[in-house]
Amino acid sequence: MEFETWQLLVIPLFFALGWLAARIDIHQVVKESRVVPTSYFRGLNYLLNEQPDQAIEAFLEVARLDPDTLELHFALGALFRRRGELERAIRIHQNLVDRSNLKQDQRLKALYELGQDFLKAGLLDRAEDIFKKLEAGPHALDALRNLLDIYVLEKDWQQAIAIAERLEKMGSPCQKADTAHYYCELALNEMLRKDMDAAHRHLDQALNINRKAVRASQLQGDLAAQVGDDETAIGHWRRIEQQNVTYLPVVAERLLNAYRRLGRPLEGVELLKSYLSRQPSADLFHILFNSVAENHDWTAAERLAGEALKRQPGLRVLDDYLQARTAGVGADLEIKMTQDLVHRQVSRIAYYQCVHCGFKAHQFFWQCPACAAWDGIAPERKESE
Ligand SMILES: [Zn+2]
Repeated sequence: MEFETWQLLVIPLFFALGWLAARIDIHQVVKESRVVPTSYFRGLNYLLNEQPDQAIEAFLEVARLDPDTLELHFALGALFRRRGELERAIRIHQNLVDRSNLKQDQRLKALYELGQDFLKAGLLDRAEDIFKKLEAGPHALDALRNLLDIYVLEKDWQQAIAIAERLEKMGSPCQKADTAHYYCELALNEMLRKDMDAAHRHLDQALNINRKAVRASQLQGDLAAQVGDDETAIGHWRRIEQQNVTYLPVVAERLLNAYRRLGRPLEGVELLKSYLSRQPSADLFHILFNSVAENHDWTAAERLAGEALKRQPGLRVLDDYLQARTAGVGADLEIKMTQDLVHRQVSRIAYYQCVHCGFKAHQFFWQCPACAAWDGIAPERKESE
């Protein structure tokens, strides 16, 4: 192989090129680091040292020095809202909206963020105005969801129904179960105004949109019972067994009372017994137990509770059983003390609970007071450990 002199130059040339490339990179980094304000690095440093308040102040300074750092403004605004510092969040987002040099998509994004700030601050009218402006465009779906929340908060059920329909058409997850509740709320308003025809109409609409709307059947029964038509009321309430068997405790007492008014109390008792044989429920049992106990038939009540205790052991059924034992003749002091203890414990630990947020209540609600989810609270009380 023949060696040529010029080949001696190849190695130094590579070295020279490498050195040049390194210098260019270093120059670039130094140049860029001069462009980024020192507050930015200070902010990062605070973040790394888990000092969020100081980090926010440093980033705010960056935002003041360089108003073009849009993403930083958005990040800070969202952070303030999450921390509940709503005035600061509103100020940042309002400033963005007011800028004249913002592109249309950035302005819409700022407007959407501002709407969320107002919503969280409870300024519903201002939030509503903003979300209405966003009904068409890239934020349409989210704007409509927020509008729906606003109308539910304001109890404007007609508007809520209209928005839910639009959301369904836009491919949002099924709104039918919630919409049935909006119709039930409308029916309740009409019942208060004594316009029973309008109430019936709304309940029919609720069942048309969701045939499993338990609450609509319950209210239809209530309407019939109000005018003394217990037979029809029983028909509506009994339909709940097909709609959702777990909701039977909600209407069990109504059923027993209606059968009693019709002079057929035993029919009601037998119906509840048949429900219980298919669907164990301490709440349903307690209603049945009370009904038997009201007639002071303590022997029957004790037998009933004893059998239930074997099928479904639990403190609440034990409470009923001990009540029957102490009410009967010959109960000694020890059993009375035990019953008192168990009863107090049951009152303390039995509660309804929301499956979405874990909210606990001693009362049943169709809509969770904490997270606003419809049907979030299970109709059967739980016993805490
Ligand atoms: Zn909840």
